[in-house]
Amino acid sequence: MRVFIACLGTETNTFSSLPTGEQTYRDTALFDGDATRHEPTPFSQPLHIWRARAEEQGHEVTEGLCAFAQPGGRTIRRVYEDYRDRILAQAEAALPLDLVLVNMHGAMVAEGYDDCEGDLLTRLRAVVGPDTVIGGELDLHCHITPAMLEAATVLVTYKEYPHVDIGERADDLFRLCHDAALGRSAPVMAAHDCRMISMWRTTAEPMRGFVADMKAREGSDGILAVSFGHGFPWGDVAAVGAKTLVVADGDEEKAAALAADLADRLWAMREETRPTAIGIDEAIDRALASDGGPVVLADVSDNAGGGAPSDSTFILERLIARGVRDAASGLYWDPVAVRFCMEAGEGARLRLRIGGKCGPDSGDPVDLAVTVERIVENAAQTFGSARNGIGDAVWVRGEGGLDLVLNTLRTQVFHPDAFTAVGLDPAARKIVVVKSTQHFHAGFAPIAKDILYVAAPGAIAPDFAAIPYTKLATPYWPRVEDPWAG
Ligand SMILES: [Zn+2]
Repeated sequence: MRVFIACLGTETNTFSSLPTGEQTYRDTALFDGDATRHEPTPFSQPLHIWRARAEEQGHEVTEGLCAFAQPGGRTIRRVYEDYRDRILAQAEAALPLDLVLVNMHGAMVAEGYDDCEGDLLTRLRAVVGPDTVIGGELDLHCHITPAMLEAATVLVTYKEYPHVDIGERADDLFRLCHDAALGRSAPVMAAHDCRMISMWRTTAEPMRGFVADMKAREGSDGILAVSFGHGFPWGDVAAVGAKTLVVADGDEEKAAALAADLADRLWAMREETRPTAIGIDEAIDRALASDGGPVVLADVSDNAGGGAPSDSTFILERLIARGVRDAASGLYWDPVAVRFCMEAGEGARLRLRIGGKCGPDSGDPVDLAVTVERIVENAAQTFGSARNGIGDAVWVRGEGGLDLVLNTLRTQVFHPDAFTAVGLDPAARKIVVVKSTQHFHAGFAPIAKDILYVAAPGAIAPDFAAIPYTKLATPYWPRVEDPWAG
């Protein structure tokens, strides 16, 4: 069997003014056919798994481009077209192909292309022909579009948020697509639009049970795979929103019926699963009142993983104004401040302008007298079983002990080792503020006394009813109470 693997993705916040160009892909993950010869990153991990599984079976593997960008605004048109065309040319050169596996995000938008995944899959289908199995792995924060469903044989999304199951889903996709390529199954897909825009944390009930039920349905009664595409709220595209997606063996009606049934269950749970978030001062009050620590405050509105700048100062300003000292916070993406610290060196004391640099969503810069405690070049943090580079990182301490981690590669906080990488122990602090929506949860829950989600201002403030869509044609909850009425 001849197998082709590739990766192209990012999660595009179409409301963001941060341009996503070649440098952002280079900073995150850019390999031209040799991603699997390097240490796995969260974005290349599926390629490692697919190559290993295919080679175990004695198949011939051709590896194409692997390009992934930290979320931001739209990808520059010529960059998207260049990456796409490289993958298409690599697939064409590897013909004939039995199996094509692509790791994508599912919410990638480029200038001129609202549905990059649909565009890529459609062109891949044209290259490989109608009989080749094409499988795609997607982040659950995806827009599942008609073009994607039409062109792919099998699509699966992650089931877990935080995304701790990237490898498991890569294994699932390989098995399903390999069976199909051997003629052991005939996958058909059906998606169901939930008409809901929200975020679902799978770390707590009732979503834990929902995930367990999705898994339980797979592998029996002709159901091959069950996914819930939560959707990515900050994409102004026609297909934005939550969708269930079922792959069945030859029976599209059965797939559609289960997809509708699962969507009904999600609708019934909508109030219970609505993400809670509290104001900045309430969060600080509750953290200070807690006996022991650390209480983790998630700055969900400034999560780089949703295309936010990761340099907002709204919570930092309140910590300073209220005299809170026993606190640590990161990661502030501030290459200029990091440069000043590196010039000054460890132990230096200086007055540093921190954050607030990218635009109105970042708030105002904060001027703080700090000591440079520690500088680490090319630091990294853990994300699942992969490593995520955070760039050059600096631990600075404000007067009285307010500790901040500044870095040069824009990324959210995935794990406490984003702090310990520079020698700062978050477990020993009363308050830890992390710029992340949910991925932090896997690593921080074991050390946290409590976790509070904070609705600070910012690029992705969790107010789903107020997102100014211009292309979504159908009503949705929570902007309207009943999107099915009328
Ligand atoms: Zn995601």
